[in-house]
Amino acid sequence: MRIILLGAPGAGKGTVAKRLTAYDGSIQISTGDMLRSEVQQDTPLGIKALKFMVGGNLVPDELILEIIGKRFELDPPKGFLLDGFPRTIPQATALDAMFARLGIQLDLVANLVVPEAVILDRLSNRRTCSNTKCQEIYNLKSTPPGPNNTCLKCGAMVIQRADETVEAVTRRLQVYRQMTEPLIEYYTRTGQLLVVDDKATEAVAATIIRGVNTHACI
Ligand code: AMP
Repeated sequence: MRIILLGAPGAGKGTVAKRLTAYDGSIQISTGDMLRSEVQQDTPLGIKALKFMVGGNLVPDELILEIIGKRFELDPPKGFLLDGFPRTIPQATALDAMFARLGIQLDLVANLVVPEAVILDRLSNRRTCSNTKCQEIYNLKSTPPGPNNTCLKCGAMVIQRADETVEAVTRRLQVYRQMTEPLIEYYTRTGQLLVVDDKATEAVAATIIRGVNTHACI
């Protein structure tokens, strides 16, 4: 499947993307994960991106479009789940142009709708594996990590991300409302939006799969 996952930080885009990957082998493309890997490797792009990320702000469109452009043009994936991209109207229009150039047809844009109180609770309890090749996500309440905060998958330390402090989360939600929420209207107008308000990951994934199979956008 070829889909965009839209939704506030903490809406569950990454978790649902992983679940959908297991369904049909489509690749999760997370700009957040790609940026964190650049930061970890201390690349020039990572150094530039870090100062925006720690404050909970968006990295400039040109930088993001550069990584996404390289990802699609060098190795176009058959099926993909875009997680965390696009996040602004200029990113969405650039993506449309790139898809038109590469002959890629999107199945749908799934907008994951989650109440803000749930998001705040989720993000403050969220922990992430520090191994950039793993990045498994845990929740202290529902899916805790292993003994001494170690990752159950790879054994690396599980940490709280710098952009998941209360201040950074508050800023990220504000940025989401200002910069990303307008995409809901954008994709409603293109007729590609599917509103998904199920609670459990399995139900969200099932709604998206049904939407892809029946072309059920509004
Ligand atoms: P995420 O893991 O998707 O929440 O992304 C973490 C951080 O990476 C965000 O708070 C932004 O600073 C940056 N980032 C990720 N994707 C984008 C994007 N499409 N546009 C701008 N900044 C991004």
